[in-house]
Amino acid sequence: MSENILTPTVLIIGGGPSGLRAAAELGPRVEGQVLVVERESVAGGIPRHSDHPGYGIRDMGKFISGPKYAHILRQRASKAGAKIMVNTMVTDWAGDLAVNATSPQGRITIQARVVILATGARERPRPARLIPGDRGHGVYTTGNLQNVVHLKHNKVGKRAVIVGSELVSWSAALTLKHVGCRTVLMTTEYPKPDAYFFFSKPGKIFFNTKIATRTKVTRIIGKPEVQAIEIENLDTGKRDLIECDTVILTGDWIPDNELVRSAGLPVDPSNRAPVVDETLQTTRPGLFAIGNMLHPVDTADIAALDGAAVADHVLRYLAGVAPHRSPLDVGTEAPLRWVSPSRVNLNGSEPPRGRLLLWTDRFVAFPKVVLKQQGSVVARKRLWWPAAPGRVFRVPSSILHGVDRRRGRITVALER
Ligand SMILES: Cc1cc2nc3c(=O)[nH]c(=O)nc-3n(C[C@H](O)[C@H](O)[C@H](O)COP(=O)(O)OP(=O)(O)OC[C@H]3O[C@@H](n4cnc5c(N)ncnc54)[C@H](O)[C@@H]3O)c2cc1C
Repeated sequence: MSENILTPTVLIIGGGPSGLRAAAELGPRVEGQVLVVERESVAGGIPRHSDHPGYGIRDMGKFISGPKYAHILRQRASKAGAKIMVNTMVTDWAGDLAVNATSPQGRITIQARVVILATGARERPRPARLIPGDRGHGVYTTGNLQNVVHLKHNKVGKRAVIVGSELVSWSAALTLKHVGCRTVLMTTEYPKPDAYFFFSKPGKIFFNTKIATRTKVTRIIGKPEVQAIEIENLDTGKRDLIECDTVILTGDWIPDNELVRSAGLPVDPSNRAPVVDETLQTTRPGLFAIGNMLHPVDTADIAALDGAAVADHVLRYLAGVAPHRSPLDVGTEAPLRWVSPSRVNLNGSEPPRGRLLLWTDRFVAFPKVVLKQQGSVVARKRLWWPAAPGRVFRVPSSILHGVDRRRGRITVALER
């Protein structure tokens, strides 16, 4: 341990929407300090550099830009008495509920009674996607792009191809338009665009762009600058070259889970998120996880509402109430890829907003969701909203009320 030791009651690692909202909830209700540690120079997380409207709908009842949303969250956390330490990165563990961090003041150790992980998720970069070809300049993830444009105020190229067609892909298109770069094509491996119909239809017209479905990228061409991208139709095998100087890789999320892995905690292999129960507590007592590191990736308001939901569970934990009985694992059957939370205690607690969050690899218009235990269906629910790839599919957690805890592991599936 370093000489420099801080001892807040609650340590929140990550000052994005989930961490800041948890801080705002816990600040006035916790004895002792609530400390948020953020590696960037300003707290706010992704919305800080996502300069377009679309934030704050479910948690604030507003429709505001990312930077404005981040500003309000920061203000609320500070007003609630939480301390926000910026330019401070947690690097490793110094005990079950203690971490080491580097800060402008040097190395510090933070020992808390509760630790909340709120480190978010990121888009997989090019090397992790194994895209062959030249290593020319001009390839970004949406996160890199918005950093370059909105924080560093730099330009990109003039003709872009966006790989992906989910909500975040349209966010990338907006940023490109902002710096005078035309989106000539969006691609998706799915048979239809992943984003909501009311985004993709007008989006195509507004951005004057096309969407190539059932298409994958086979090569990026051009060095030192990108000059073209080669795409392949997954059904016909036909390949085309698209001239462009900018490629934006969107979606394909991975939680920022390094601290979870270095703690040796179980990680759900289907989405690499830490295993938590419906109280958002990991398998280590006193260590909670919230936001997009649990469900990569949902909207910011949902991440923030995790922060609101975790507060009650943290207070119960601090008061000595243990939620752990013998939780049941929850898994999925294809086309569902993952479910959050991935274990449940079924002792009266519900997940945030009374929803199970799932990810699907196939579009189903009016899905009938079933829960199975030991191979038999124990609960069913018809939903009037679709399960669509590229965005979180929400299922009321009341479906869990049909579960028999003696029958063990639960599987969530879609009935044909
Ligand atoms: C391009 C883009 C556009 C989007 N558009 C919208 C939109 O219009 N509307 C909407 O509702 N949502 C949108 N989203 C989603 C939204 O941004 C996320 O849901 C939200 O930011 C998740 O919040 P979070 O707190 O879980 O994580 P994040 O916002 O990712 O915050 C995590 C924070 O943790 C910090 N951190 C990580 N590791 C450490 C460490 N070791 N030590 C210290 N600090 C650390 C990071 O620096 C970061 O600030 C968009 C996302 C992207 C990428």
